[in-house]
Amino acid sequence: MNILTFDVEEWFHLLDFDATRTEAEWGKYEVRIYENVDRILDILERTNTKATFFIIGWVAKTYPDVVKKIAAKYQIGSHTMNHQLVWQQRPEEFRNDVESSVKLLQDITGQPVECFRAPGFSIRKSEAWAFEILSDLGIKYDSSIFPAHHAHGGMPEFHSSEPTKVRYGAFVIKEFPISYKTIAGKHLVFSGGGYFRLFPYPLIKKWSKEHSDYLLSYIHPRDLDGGQPMLEGLPLARKFKSYVGTKGAAKKLEKYLTDFEFTDIATAAQRIDWNKTPTFVL
Ligand SMILES: [Zn+2]
Repeated sequence: MNILTFDVEEWFHLLDFDATRTEAEWGKYEVRIYENVDRILDILERTNTKATFFIIGWVAKTYPDVVKKIAAKYQIGSHTMNHQLVWQQRPEEFRNDVESSVKLLQDITGQPVECFRAPGFSIRKSEAWAFEILSDLGIKYDSSIFPAHHAHGGMPEFHSSEPTKVRYGAFVIKEFPISYKTIAGKHLVFSGGGYFRLFPYPLIKKWSKEHSDYLLSYIHPRDLDGGQPMLEGLPLARKFKSYVGTKGAAKKLEKYLTDFEFTDIATAAQRIDWNKTPTFVL
């Protein structure tokens, strides 16, 4: 089963870069979300593919028409209000942030928001409290766990690489962990983001076939935007990581979605027999 997700954010929503870290900076940059989301919707239409869109509340607040357009056909989830790392927040801050994004998305779309993804997969074991808050806010499905060490978080204790029930006290959330491949000790999320742009398509195809039981892919609108400006002041390594392959990625994604069948989290959740999935107790 292959699941396709998008994290709907602007081209400048990079983590770990002080110049674009908070909302105060976001209004001054070129707006590219309209054409970038349209590009994705066109590809999904042409390949007849379902996907789940995790949307930053700030994008929804600033461009509600973009959210309405996506929600007319696709599943919507929250990617928090202000795109801050979970482990940099106190539980009350995290609750307020997620709650405001969920309410906003529900107000705009008229649909319940049941899915969540943390920025940078930043729910670690020490942020287990986040699951209580998410559950309390009506989130049934989470896709924030990276089951290995990761620059922005990661949960190496989570050994499952398939859909899993996460239990925290009395709360249970159904988890769709991020898929990756380990090469030379590096955990590569080859089916999305920078590595999807970087690696040649035949390799992505080969590795995807190896993950035929469960593959979760995540892509940002900016990953497919070959015309985006270069953010000033980015260190050289970040420049490479953030911009490599953006010119060819839209075509690559269309080929990927033609060769493989992907679906959204809502459909996947219905197909899964949750009585047979593992349970991870936090
Ligand atoms: Zn993000």
